[in-house]
Amino acid sequence: MIRLLDLTLEQLRTQVQAWGEPVFRADQLWHWLYARQANDPAAMSNLPRTLQARIATDATIEPLKPVAQTASADLLAHKVLFQLRDGQTVEAVLMLYDRRRTLCISTQAGCAMGCTFCATGLAGLARNLTAGEIAAQVLYFARWLGDPEAGGTNSLPIMRPAQVTNVVLMGMGEPLANYRAVWQALYTLTDAQGFGLGARHFTLSTVGLAPMIERMAGESLQVNLAVSLHAPSDELRNRLVPINRRYPLAVLLAACRAYTERTHRRLSFEYALMRGINDRQEHAQRLALITKGMLCHVNLIPLNPVRGSAYQPSTKADTEAFLDTLQQAGISSTLRLRRGVDINAGCGQLRQQVQSRDGAG
Ligand code: SAH
Ligand code: SF4
Repeated sequence: MIRLLDLTLEQLRTQVQAWGEPVFRADQLWHWLYARQANDPAAMSNLPRTLQARIATDATIEPLKPVAQTASADLLAHKVLFQLRDGQTVEAVLMLYDRRRTLCISTQAGCAMGCTFCATGLAGLARNLTAGEIAAQVLYFARWLGDPEAGGTNSLPIMRPAQVTNVVLMGMGEPLANYRAVWQALYTLTDAQGFGLGARHFTLSTVGLAPMIERMAGESLQVNLAVSLHAPSDELRNRLVPINRRYPLAVLLAACRAYTERTHRRLSFEYALMRGINDRQEHAQRLALITKGMLCHVNLIPLNPVRGSAYQPSTKADTEAFLDTLQQAGISSTLRLRRGVDINAGCGQLRQQVQSRDGAG
């Protein structure tokens, strides 16, 4: 069975020719899959019946089945749990804030990095997603936003049809540990003949796999980079983000500098504030010290409390004092608003909830 969304345009051309069709049919099919987000060959009206039938018998399109859905009370965040062909589950969230329609998607079923404050990390890695499984999450929501008739249990508080404006790779998984599939999906989704969302509207978030950050600097797409820092010293980061033992701060920050020097693009550091753990004045001062002079922005994030983890979010006063210290030190920084908390919009949390409800987790 050929999985169409796992193919590059080149591979699709080869496949279409192997089916005895002229090569331009592949470009038409690509347009149906990504520009029109079609997942039924019968709807691809300018393809010959023979090719529609071939696709129906030899290929599959849709790799995802939505199996659970929740919306925040204000209906501005919608989270869907998808089941993949082999039964694995991943989640994605659509957020309707700041006149944007931002999608947060997953790149792995689970994650091997084991960050101690993360619901996904607590459960370990099941497997990498394929390029098609990554792209399909975006296509699913694009269809939903684009269809004024689309029902579902939650109506969206926006005018439809609408389009996805931003995509962040901040769902389950470590994107740079699944490098090839992630970048194939990015090249596919940014292709102007297909989905065509500009690279600058994508943000890849990484735990800090230093060699892969340097590799990413050589890609031709201008995707934004976010690095999950969470601690300003090796001693603390080793405890929160265990991969820090392999790529300690000096190595990570050197890779970040190499990245900004090569790309001339500002990166962001993510820092989830945890009460009494990494939110003291000494941490803020040290964070300012290690990021000083870098082409970067610091995003402070309120921690989403995770079941099975002892970490708590910082108080409002500590959060404000932390931000103030960074800004006084001249570090470009902002506090990200607390959003979607009531639907457990944090990474891996819907899956955790569904699995324990089903008695599986
Ligand atoms: N693996 C990548 C991307 C997925 S996690 C990474 O770690 O960057 C996306 C973001 O959510 C990361 O910044 C991660 O540190 C953060 N995160 C994980 N668990 C969280 C929690 N309980 N509260 C707030 N942020 C969390
Ligand atoms: Fe993996 Fe990111 Fe969670 Fe760490 S924070 S366990 S890298 S998904």
